[in-house]
Amino acid sequence: MKALVKAAAEPGLWLDERGIPQIGPDDVLIKINKTGICGTDIHIYAWDEWAQRTVPVPMVVGHEYAGEVAEVGANVTKFAIGQRVSGEGHVVGMSSRAARGGRFHLDPETKGIGVNIPGAFAEYLRLPAFNVVPLPDAIDDEIGAILDPLGNAVHTALSFDLVGEDVLITGAGPIGIMSAAVARHVGARHVVITDVNPHRLALASDVADVVPVDVSKEDLRSVTQRLGMKEGFDVGLEMSGAPAAFDQMVENLVMGGKIAMLGIPAGPATVDWTKLVFKMLTVKGIYGREMFETWHKMLAMLESGLDIRKIITHRLPVTEFKAGFEIMRTGKCGKIVLDWKA
Ligand code: NAD
Ligand code: ZN
Repeated sequence: MKALVKAAAEPGLWLDERGIPQIGPDDVLIKINKTGICGTDIHIYAWDEWAQRTVPVPMVVGHEYAGEVAEVGANVTKFAIGQRVSGEGHVVGMSSRAARGGRFHLDPETKGIGVNIPGAFAEYLRLPAFNVVPLPDAIDDEIGAILDPLGNAVHTALSFDLVGEDVLITGAGPIGIMSAAVARHVGARHVVITDVNPHRLALASDVADVVPVDVSKEDLRSVTQRLGMKEGFDVGLEMSGAPAAFDQMVENLVMGGKIAMLGIPAGPATVDWTKLVFKMLTVKGIYGREMFETWHKMLAMLESGLDIRKIITHRLPVTEFKAGFEIMRTGKCGKIVLDWKA
């Protein structure tokens, strides 16, 4: 089968031939139709320090995908050949206290497909049946291919009650923008999104009904005054990984405000703890998606009018993957979807 492989411990990815994965009795073999390129894949492509530390070589990369069931293991009864599916890319252990307690997303033995174990940028993916999520007819393959990052957005946005609240989102990357659409969908009042990249802010306005703010040019306080918010934002969703954005969020939240933090800073960053303490802020770290509550809510919202289609700005055949990775690096894009059948 064709697969995008990190074949050598150096920058790059290679479209290579690999054997079709052998499945075990509890696995499903998925024929991949479409995949999304994630920031993580860019780190692996660039072979930065994190990737060198984390990814064993050779490795089939990729973890955002939609496809159809091609084969099921002997113990698998609930999936039919040809059924359209996506799935959770975090493969968990079943022995930790968290997993035994049904909090699978907190399992310390979690392995990521396309990072620690073979991934989805291939014609076929082997996945435990436990991880497979059926796709409703209303959700086509290109949306199915970006459910992983949409799930990050949904998990973060639904961490705190947003109904009637004023929400600040820092970072208008694909995930920040999708979280803005979710905040709007569930009934937030003002949704303000910040970035320093005008392309990303323009895309945010295109995808969701938000107030975009270029914080390299405009003072956030003048925006909150203009919107009539006297005390600041009720909830912050940190989606940039930029320490400056986190500081700005702390500064602009109300007393007792809440922050859900998905963005991953490049290294250790200093925080003004005094402000957090005196404002009595709550900060919740967010990793991945809740299994499988996030998946349920995400599919239900997509079926009830949540529209994130415009976040997909580029569609390419997999043979043009290099162009896709280059566009991602420029930041002048939303999600890029690769077609494995083209
Ligand atoms: P992205 O890199 O595409 O977007 C981040 C955006 O933040 C960019 O548009 C950038 O211009 C902007 N930014 C930079 N400095 C800023 C500042 N000072 N103020 C406001 N915006 C600023 O990332 P993404 O794919 O949308 O992911 C969002 C974040 O979530 C990243 O940090 C990513 O590493 C992280 N992530 C975390 C998880 C998790 O499970 N915790 C999963 C996926 C992604
Ligand atoms: Zn990802």
